[in-house]
Amino acid sequence: MTRIFSGITPSGHLTLGNYLGALRQWVAAEHSPSDALFCVVDLHALTVEHDPARLRRLTRQNATLFLAAGLDPRRCTLFVQSHVAEHTRLSYLLECTATDGELRRMIQYREKAAKAEAAGQGVRLSLLTYPVLMAADILAYAADEVPVGEDQRQHVELTRDLAVRFNQRYGHTFTVPKATLPTVGARVMDLQDPTSKMGKSSENTAGIVYLLDEPAVITKKVMRAVTDSGEGGVVYDRATRPGVANLLDVLAACTGGDPEKLAEGYAQYGPLKRDVAEAVVELLRPLRERHAGLAADPGEVERVLREGAERARAIARPVVDRAYEAIGLLAP
Ligand code: ATP
Ligand code: MG
Repeated sequence: MTRIFSGITPSGHLTLGNYLGALRQWVAAEHSPSDALFCVVDLHALTVEHDPARLRRLTRQNATLFLAAGLDPRRCTLFVQSHVAEHTRLSYLLECTATDGELRRMIQYREKAAKAEAAGQGVRLSLLTYPVLMAADILAYAADEVPVGEDQRQHVELTRDLAVRFNQRYGHTFTVPKATLPTVGARVMDLQDPTSKMGKSSENTAGIVYLLDEPAVITKKVMRAVTDSGEGGVVYDRATRPGVANLLDVLAACTGGDPEKLAEGYAQYGPLKRDVAEAVVELLRPLRERHAGLAADPGEVERVLREGAERARAIARPVVDRAYEAIGLLAP
């Protein structure tokens, strides 16, 4: 059976990008014959400036949104990364497999390090080593597939490199995973800056649709989305018309259509924006409603996470123990 693993960092409120790029694929995966684990990867949220109380709140909220999005704890394992010590145990062995140069090449490291520096904050060492911990998240479960958005492709590539290298040096230990990306919605762009990815930790919230935004707020954000000069009508061209292309991509992702074909149905931006707003509101409506019910019973979410961590531990421990032995550490 295909083993699937993926996670989301509780660094902010979940966005439409997180849903279309990741969560929605997870829900689909849960319904295929697979053994899936999904994780709130809280340790990754410590790689940049953070507020402890907010982190706790967001961890709970993200987990609640996993359930609200349709993940069923009877069909998959839901847990919090820091509840399973195997992740950090394995991460150290992988740090001894990766090189400094390899990690400094990661695009996300460069972007987030530059941002921290610009804000006058130190760059946390964990920001550099974060992709190694992510590799440990995946390899500890012998995952075959990692459903992610486009921006995580490079980190999954690194995970593969580390797995292959470790296996070659110390004998076969890890399953070499592959990233699986959605055909539409793999890279939702910021509505105010359509050349940047929509990200939950971005400061300018006007360009970000949060999963729990009220319908009126979603509509306002979409109607105010930055578009392009508009000459030549509505055409789908990511390079020269990134704003409109993003709206068409979102519409296609919500309605199951093809962005180029959808463009043919519009002469002006106004009607396109109205349809996008409506499609997003409808897409997220059931999720918002389920979230309200679940948030009223935090004890149930905690129970799901506790059980999930137990199941996760039982899978990861033997894999990580094997890695400890293979690399030459004496069994306790
Ligand atoms: P941050 O800004 O803190 O990095 P993020 O929104 O990028 O937050 P992550 O926790 O880094 O979220 O990623 C969680 C999952 O969501 C990953 O699979 C990632 O590829 C996906 N994802 C994130 N942003 C987008 C986006 N704009 N479009 C599609 N998928 C996305
Ligand atoms: Mg990210």
